[in-house]
Amino acid sequence: HLAQKNGYNNYQFFVREDNTVHDRKIKIEQGLKKALHNNEFELYYQPQVHLKSRRIVGVEALLRWKHPELGNISPYEFIPVAENTGMIIPIGKWVIQEACRQIKLWQSAGIRIKIAVNVSALQFEDHQFIELVNESLSQNLLPPKYLELEITESVMQKINQSFAIIGKLKNIGIKVSIDDFGTGYSSLSVLSNLPIDVIKIDKSFVSKMMTDENTASLVKTIIEMGSNLNFGLIAEGIETEEQAEFLMQNGCHLGQGYLYSPPITKEEIGKLLNKENVV
Ligand code: C2E
Ligand code: MG
Ligand code: MG
Ligand code: MG
Repeated sequence: HLAQKNGYNNYQFFVREDNTVHDRKIKIEQGLKKALHNNEFELYYQPQVHLKSRRIVGVEALLRWKHPELGNISPYEFIPVAENTGMIIPIGKWVIQEACRQIKLWQSAGIRIKIAVNVSALQFEDHQFIELVNESLSQNLLPPKYLELEITESVMQKINQSFAIIGKLKNIGIKVSIDDFGTGYSSLSVLSNLPIDVIKIDKSFVSKMMTDENTASLVKTIIEMGSNLNFGLIAEGIETEEQAEFLMQNGCHLGQGYLYSPPITKEEIGKLLNKENVV
């Protein structure tokens, strides 16, 4: 009797759980359609620093969304939904335009800093993407060197198409980085044939490299091969001095992470940039 009762309760529990998860997904999907119009998005910025001097060399723009009912939702949750529904195209457009407006505002205030913007594979493949980038730069009279685009290894699955688009971005003068490097299936040998500028070492490696020898070797190999192939290198997710020290000793001199600053609002980072000598 007891087992049956528990079984019944468990069944009930999972059904209810599933409904909740499903409801949430629907609310996110519906919410994404209205979010741009209702001004619910905001860009936060995380400093990228020179590890030794801790001077800020750039910032990464990270999208934040406050759903009217569900509150703050992580991009890890809503970006995949935006990708599945196609909403990533208008949302990604807003991100690039907003980032460019922000760099321009900072420039007018005498702060010259580059912004790295995350771009989904879908956006990258969109035929209006290059036009969007060009327009966002020209509307704000921005030299292209202030904008950097972060793509993930999934973009590399369509290698020929990617090659052409990265080539066009290079012609405009924009740098392209590979985000979360090492978590996908592309190898350094594939990358060596692409006009990529920067490799971002994924935070999952940084968080494990001090306690796991294989991860430490992997990170050393990425840094060594990356520098031999003339890529810039930056590590993400640095939370401790030991991690920063390890990266520097092995030849990676740029990074970002909670050790320096979490992503913060434009007002907060504006203050930081004003105080510091920006490189
Ligand atoms: P990402 O581009 O790899 O960004 C790094 C993530 O790690 C960010 O999470 C950042 O807040 C977090 N992080 C930074 N420092 C640390 C640290 O020291 N420790 C730990 N544990 N985490 C740290 P966030 O902001 O939640 O963004 C998650 C992901 O969502 C991003 O990963 C990126 O793939 C995607 N994303 C964010 N904004 C955009 C956007 O505007 N467009 C697109 N397409 N994707 C975006
Ligand atoms: Mg990124
Ligand atoms: Mg990353
Ligand atoms: Mg990452």
